[in-house]
Amino acid sequence: MNILLIGAQGSGKGTQAELLAERLHLKSLASGDLLRDAIAHGTPLGQQARPYVERGDLVPDDLVLGLILDATRQLDDEHGIILDGFPRNIPQAQSLDARLEALGQPIAAAVYLDVPREQLLDRLSGRYICRLHGHVWNLKTKPPRVAGVCDLDGSELYQRSDDQPEKIARRLDIFFSETIRLLDYYEAQGKLLRVDGIGEIARVNESIVVGIDGIFAVKGLSAPVAPRTESMQYTAG
Ligand code: ADP
Repeated sequence: MNILLIGAQGSGKGTQAELLAERLHLKSLASGDLLRDAIAHGTPLGQQARPYVERGDLVPDDLVLGLILDATRQLDDEHGIILDGFPRNIPQAQSLDARLEALGQPIAAAVYLDVPREQLLDRLSGRYICRLHGHVWNLKTKPPRVAGVCDLDGSELYQRSDDQPEKIARRLDIFFSETIRLLDYYEAQGKLLRVDGIGEIARVNESIVVGIDGIFAVKGLSAPVAPRTESMQYTAG
């Protein structure tokens, strides 16, 4: 089963992707993480992508596509993927559909995490990422137990260089003018699930899994959802 998460910067995509990956036994693939990794390692693709990421612009489709399609090679029958940050426009969505359909593993559901723009700016100013695995924390909504240290792997937390106000505004503009069109695209396929992204992390997660169950029920498939575990008892701060 393959799932997409669509959401603006700061909507909680990364956090929900982690929870869903654990709960549904999916492999989480975040295009931003793959790009930051390529940039950090100075690969040819990373060098080409760097100026776009630094400006807060979308990286050209052919570069991102190569990266994602490579990663989907790790797909197997048992474990699907949860895609976070890809696709971000219609051509990317069409290429992804073509690729996954050729593999016989199409997207099952596209989840839109709906958060109004005013709230996003506020959330992003508190966002911190861990150096080792990119776990996302937020001083306002999901603070780490010890300031500046990742609860999950103990590595240092930092603020991304593209989380400065003017770069955030640029990325939000692109999201609300371009990426938002994916909602119509997936709605036409009967795969769109709109979830209210405001409120406690655990409650948002619950809405997503219930919604995914619903999509599966409509298609006459058995529900993929595992029961909730203790490690998912996050609450908003
Ligand atoms: P955010 O969602 O906050 O922008 P990400 O970590 O998802 O953060 O992405 C960081 C940057 O990587 C984006 O601003 C963009 O430059 C690039 N990027 C990520 N995914 C894509 C994509 N699907 N297409 C084009 N560029 C992308």
